[in-house]
Amino acid sequence: MKTVLITGTNRGIGLEFVRQYADDGWRVLACTRNPSTSSELNQLAAQFPDVIHIHALDVTNHEQIAQLSHELSTDKIDLLINNAGVYPTVRGATFHQVDYDAWGHAFKVNSMAPLKMADAFFSQISRSELKKIVSITSKMGSVADNRGGGSYVYRSSKSALNIVMKSLALDLESKGFIVALLHPGWVRTDMGGPNGLISAEKSVSGMRHVIDGLTHTDTGKFFAFDGQIVPW
Ligand code: NDP
Repeated sequence: MKTVLITGTNRGIGLEFVRQYADDGWRVLACTRNPSTSSELNQLAAQFPDVIHIHALDVTNHEQIAQLSHELSTDKIDLLINNAGVYPTVRGATFHQVDYDAWGHAFKVNSMAPLKMADAFFSQISRSELKKIVSITSKMGSVADNRGGGSYVYRSSKSALNIVMKSLALDLESKGFIVALLHPGWVRTDMGGPNGLISAEKSVSGMRHVIDGLTHTDTGKFFAFDGQIVPW
């Protein structure tokens, strides 16, 4: 049985990843900040007993990450999905209105936590044949794609994530790891809003197809949910 560890699974894209991987026979380590209030995730876990394991995890809390890694120290993790993310809107979108504290927080969640997770769960992933690390980024972090301006905080945090994961891909290449970045599309979630172009179901099934097909030649690449390469 293959195992996936996913962050930010109480709603949106993360919850859908849990649903689809559990349905596909994977063992799912579903991390969420507040298990007791993650009602949809709890309902899903009840449908898949012994398959979905819920763990409390705020990805900015390095002690909690270390504690979870210790708890899972004898595990094998085939796939790590760094999904948790924040999009500070008013406080990060507009020139003259940027909140620099919110910017710092966005960097902690969107840019630093994915590397911390890879670091903390390196041994567990090393035990797998697959050794895959995927971080959910955004086209908004693409410098080449930026035609709209604004969104200083979100864009920069995802650009930083991209370069961090590129370095990780190069550093872990010789150890057989595959590290990739995925843009989920514009998805109808709390973050994407009701006008998003695709459902979480479509986004996640596309991303799962891309993840499934990743080979060593794909490490360090930036894909969209439909398999297209996204320019840096
Ligand atoms: P949502 O806002 O719907 O969900 C975000 C998830 O991240 C929630 O589960 C949230 O948990 C979790 N999260 C936030 N901060 C933390 C933290 N400190 N520790 C742990 N979990 C945290 O967003 P989406 O599902 O739409 O987004 C998922 C990923 O996809 C993000 O990385 C996002 O940037 C990316 N993305 C989304 C797009 C879209 O159109 N929706 C487009 C491009 C990229 P909680 O409920 O506890 O806050």
